[in-house]
Amino acid sequence: MNSLLLTGGRVVDPANKFDSIADVLILNGKISAVGKNLSAPAGVETFDAKGKIVCPGLIDLHVHFREPGQTAKENIATGTAAAARGGFTSVVCMPNTSPAIDSAGTVALIRERAEREGVVNVFVSGAITKGIAGEELAPIGGLKKAGVVAITDDGHCVQNNDLMRRACEYAKMFDLPLFDHCQDYSLVTDGVMHEGYWNVALGLRGWPAAGEEMIVARNILLAELTGAKVHCQHLSAAGSVRLIREARQRGVPISGEACPHHFTLTDAAIAGSEKFWASDGKMLAPAQSGELPQWPAYDTHFKMNPPLRSAKDREAILEGLADGTIDILCSDHAPHCDYEKAVEFDYAPFGITGLEIELTLSLMQLVHTKRLSLADMIAKFTVNPAKLLNLPKGTLSIGADADVTMIDTDCEWVYRPEDSASKSKNNPFFGWQLKGKAVATVVAGRLVWSE
Ligand SMILES: [Zn+2]
Repeated sequence: MNSLLLTGGRVVDPANKFDSIADVLILNGKISAVGKNLSAPAGVETFDAKGKIVCPGLIDLHVHFREPGQTAKENIATGTAAAARGGFTSVVCMPNTSPAIDSAGTVALIRERAEREGVVNVFVSGAITKGIAGEELAPIGGLKKAGVVAITDDGHCVQNNDLMRRACEYAKMFDLPLFDHCQDYSLVTDGVMHEGYWNVALGLRGWPAAGEEMIVARNILLAELTGAKVHCQHLSAAGSVRLIREARQRGVPISGEACPHHFTLTDAAIAGSEKFWASDGKMLAPAQSGELPQWPAYDTHFKMNPPLRSAKDREAILEGLADGTIDILCSDHAPHCDYEKAVEFDYAPFGITGLEIELTLSLMQLVHTKRLSLADMIAKFTVNPAKLLNLPKGTLSIGADADVTMIDTDCEWVYRPEDSASKSKNNPFFGWQLKGKAVATVVAGRLVWSE
């Protein structure tokens, strides 16, 4: 069954600047028509989308599915199930698996497994360097031939600027965007949280914002030098936004992405809920009423890389999203087992899950607060990432793949571990009172998840 008629929803398709109540007819996995009063051909099921937003299937270009090698945390089946629940029809998985995705063989393995076990489209990114060790370039041409849509050493950062320059030149030659996890090792050393007031108060080693900004500046220079499309991952610092804003105004092919945890939380969260809500948590969450969520100090569910930063940085990320400096939203979905996170803050791995909650947090922080229109937010999850990745997705144009997400922007709900499809439950937003979520996900004309 890959034909479907979605009736009566508000269709928001930023790629075509379309925003109106309409029906969407899907035939044989492709968008066949968008318009009023469409009727279903014989045998085609109808889905009532009244009161819902109907938009192109959401794309998350930054997820960790841990396959191969770390499937106790997540695998392609559970990762894509979580994606479908979050409203995502396409994801790009990162290459820091075990072994790393630095050869055509590993790309083929993942693509084959995704074909068999994935419920949404899985695209693969390849490593920049062999083993993500930052020393020797991976076979970038071979990776492209095997089907990668981007290259990145995510989780790590190439420190050698000349090597990075060569990577940019190859990326440009093979028309691949180069993603970078921006972290200067000499500045960051073994920092575990933002360097500021709270890391001193808590006695934890600091990860300065300049450690990110330094590499963002380097990437701008190399994008300008080589003409490669360089994309800075999970931006967390005000200075990064300022640098990218200025460079984009000059026409440098640089872009950036933001993850909801960085524009929802701050480093005060690591001092415990009381401190967080009392200091800079106040502007959060228009849906928060009654009892506020609670958590202890040093909760490792607030440990991620780059770290949660100050209220000023959070504000700068929100401004960057509002003015278009940051044109892509993603989760950095990073599953870890309970026992790995249940240790001292210093020893816990970085990262949280995010696929099931990123749309909600983006609605709350960007749309419900009127910083962005709904269409502009949807563009950051659809047409913008599709463009960067050169994918013919993120649109409801006639003939396009029928990947569709349906959203209820106003439903109030609480995120609970038992409702998560991910293998891992390392998420700080369990128990929060939330507003807005995906209610149905269609991939190539098939309803893969609905509430
Ligand atoms: Zn990263």
